[in-house]
Amino acid sequence: MSIIVFSENRNGKLKKNSIEAVVYAQSIAAATSKPVVAVSVGNVDDQELALLAKYGATKIVSVTDQNWLAHDSREYTKLVAEISEKENADTILFSHSNMGKAIAPRLSVRLKAGLISGVVALPESFAPITVKRKAYNGAAFQLVTVKSDKAILTLNPNSCAIKENPVSLNIEPYTPQTAYNAETKIESVDVVTGKVILTEANIVVSGGRGLKSGDNWNLIEDLATVLNAGLACSRPVSDEGWRSHEEHVGQTGKIIAPDLYIAVGISGAIQHIGGVSGSKVIVAIDKDKDAPIFKYADYGIVGDAFAVMPKMIESFKKFKNS
Ligand SMILES: Cc1cc2nc3c(=O)[nH]c(=O)nc-3n(C[C@H](O)[C@H](O)[C@H](O)COP(=O)(O)OP(=O)(O)OC[C@H]3O[C@@H](n4cnc5c(N)ncnc54)[C@H](O)[C@@H]3O)c2cc1C
Repeated sequence: MSIIVFSENRNGKLKKNSIEAVVYAQSIAAATSKPVVAVSVGNVDDQELALLAKYGATKIVSVTDQNWLAHDSREYTKLVAEISEKENADTILFSHSNMGKAIAPRLSVRLKAGLISGVVALPESFAPITVKRKAYNGAAFQLVTVKSDKAILTLNPNSCAIKENPVSLNIEPYTPQTAYNAETKIESVDVVTGKVILTEANIVVSGGRGLKSGDNWNLIEDLATVLNAGLACSRPVSDEGWRSHEEHVGQTGKIIAPDLYIAVGISGAIQHIGGVSGSKVIVAIDKDKDAPIFKYADYGIVGDAFAVMPKMIESFKKFKNS
């Protein structure tokens, strides 16, 4: 039996969540003596793949076939199923990312494997596997046990602490037996450049309806620039068209878990908190001292964002230049 980790990359660079997933797998491997097999699809060179071995992947199955570079969830499901069977896997790990959320349920049906999504911590037990996940949109936690022979987990960011566990590098170039047969074709991809990627940012500055209008976003952007942070917003902000939906975090948006989340003029509705509660430190700025966001914040500033933000930006600039 083995543990499979589906690793994701962006333009050939492994995503942080892929390293986390390998570390998570390694902790299961340490308790069960199973090998950790990472699956990589794309133009990821050997030097980059070596990172997976540094964190404990005993084998890396690398698919670089040009036909497989365009992500299609249905086709990738078939590919991961094929590799899982070849590797005799009984545990398959994905990140709780758009890709993981799209492939894992399909794979669960195909392999008749129990699926636990949004796992937030290392397993409580291993045979059968029992893990903690978020429930009710982050308002509670559940302990869930997989009863089937095979288990699939999708891992929330920060579900385990990253630590190295170097093993020797073993890359297996792999040609899929399944033909890539997607019903859609990607004609072109426009990649946003020069921006901190929200889901991978260590610091995120996020604005809500309290900012009154998209015209005031220079405050959020200036603070993000000085902190080298990603930009986020609440759902009404993107619904109003003040910001793009790709910045919307929460139950219906992206789920993020940065080291520092700064919420400005965001009331702290449960649907918003569901997307950011994995953050290590939450700082809230709101003029209403009773705003629910302060229940979740580690640090709170009660005040008018239009007065507080310029002072914060100025102070951070001074601090950086000192
Ligand atoms: C099914 C469903 C799914 C949803 N999914 C999401 C989701 O994914 N993400 C999401 O964010 N929401 C989601 N929502 C909406 C959610 O319920 C809230 O309505 C939303 O999060 C509120 O956004 P907000 O905090 O920006 O606005 P508000 O709730 O209007 O809060 C604005 C805050 O700004 C403060 N404020 C006002 N002026 C100032 C000022 N000058 N300075 C400082 N503070 C000020 C106010 O005191 C208030 O606390 C969902 C709702 C439903 C029903």
